[in-house]
Amino acid sequence: MKLKKNEQTQIKKIQKLLKPYPIPVLKIYPHSFCSRDDLTYGLIRLSQGKRLVVQGETGKVRKDPFKGKNRHHGKTTLKVCDLSPENTACLMDLFPYTRPVSLREYPITAGTGDRLGCATPGHLWAVRRFPVRPVLAQQSVRENKQTGRCFSGVVSDAAWAVFQENYQEGYGADGDHLKTFAEIEEALNAGVSMVTLDLSEKLNFSAFTDSTEAIDRHFKNEIHEEEAKVFFHLFLNKEFRFKGPPGEFSIRFDEESVKRNALLFYKAIDFTEEVYEFLQSHLVSRRIVDFEISIDETPFSTSPANHLFFIIELGQRGIRIDALAPRFIGEFQKGIDYKGDLAEFRRQFYQHAMIAMDHGNYKISIHSGSDKFSVFPIMGELAGKGLHLKTAGTSWLEAMRLIAKRFPSLYREMHQYALSIFHEATRLYHVTTDLWKIPRIEGIKDRDLPKYLDQDDSRQLVHLTYGYLLNAKGPDGKHLFRDRFFQTLTDYEEEYWALLDKHIGKHLASLGLKKMKIFK
Ligand SMILES: [Zn+2]
Repeated sequence: MKLKKNEQTQIKKIQKLLKPYPIPVLKIYPHSFCSRDDLTYGLIRLSQGKRLVVQGETGKVRKDPFKGKNRHHGKTTLKVCDLSPENTACLMDLFPYTRPVSLREYPITAGTGDRLGCATPGHLWAVRRFPVRPVLAQQSVRENKQTGRCFSGVVSDAAWAVFQENYQEGYGADGDHLKTFAEIEEALNAGVSMVTLDLSEKLNFSAFTDSTEAIDRHFKNEIHEEEAKVFFHLFLNKEFRFKGPPGEFSIRFDEESVKRNALLFYKAIDFTEEVYEFLQSHLVSRRIVDFEISIDETPFSTSPANHLFFIIELGQRGIRIDALAPRFIGEFQKGIDYKGDLAEFRRQFYQHAMIAMDHGNYKISIHSGSDKFSVFPIMGELAGKGLHLKTAGTSWLEAMRLIAKRFPSLYREMHQYALSIFHEATRLYHVTTDLWKIPRIEGIKDRDLPKYLDQDDSRQLVHLTYGYLLNAKGPDGKHLFRDRFFQTLTDYEEEYWALLDKHIGKHLASLGLKKMKIFK
């Protein structure tokens, strides 16, 4: 990567500062260097990994709270510190912008989900160019299992990346797809500023499919009489009208649809209320936690009427949310463009957005948002006042693009392995990947390998097998790919970040967000 002139001057200054001390510095992260109370702080890379350095007069360095090893020169000291949990806590105290915060007040936010723990600088390069705020840490329990990480590690990686890039605008950290109190507590203890509650296990999907008679019976048996009265009072034969520049529409509930929606949601609503109270009682005094509800991982799409029913009932109980992730019509498969009827998508998306605007002005959250380029302009146009876009897998794919470019033989090995375990890996997902459409890798020239990351089927092949690829071990118990994979990402990290800058930037530009001038 070519450095800008002012960066070169900055690096020279830092080199001069570090020169008297006997440490073999491989790399300096110039944007991280700053002064606080006569001490200089900054990030460097040694052969063992990234380190924080603290430099200044010996007496002052001694008083500084970071834990590390001291090297002396005359009356000065250079302290070299690990990025340990203890030091992360110090970082957040001394540089409060490295602590995740609520992004409630920002209309457009982007969840960039850094699965690998080394993508965030690239995400920051991209979001800096647009009027958005990033949710940099964003992992689900499932993702953490696949990558062998935990919530606190995820938040701490984001915090150090924020420090590295000197990003002081504020960022969020999302405990994504949390399903139980234990998971929520773990994420909150790790410092997340956002909880995404996944209600998929609390929804009763037979409410979509049961016969009218069965619905009547279940409603009578399962819904308490008092509660049933409230449902009918709120919804039966009421007409909810919405009006915006793109048009008017109304939603009406007859008796059957009240019953179906009640059966679909009643457990989910009770659970949401418990979680909401938990969040209020535990945290409001200490910090604001953004609250998103996800109902996207369901076998049926969320109709605007479902959405309206659910949100009115939440409002009735005094529950305020910051975002809702419906399951949209059509297909939002991982890492590839939208499949479905664009006109119908537009119609329904508009209705979802209007409902959200009229019932609490929360954001519509787009999950599996990676690479949905054909629907981004619609989303940007119609939900301009409240949108949260989540991507994650696409940054893993860009990492694999880098591997294909820089370490072709490793890419070949990983690709072949992915083919061999694909069917096992995709049990959890709905995908239409056709492995037969992926050209055999044997005849492909090295320079053409990155093209695999442009074709839908091979994108999905590599996308859905990420956990398997990272965890694969040989007969000797050693990782097959992991070490070489991460080493390559480290060796070419600037190139990786540049790929992400371009690719995430393309997502944000497709939403219709205008680029901003950056002043560093
Ligand atoms: Zn989701």
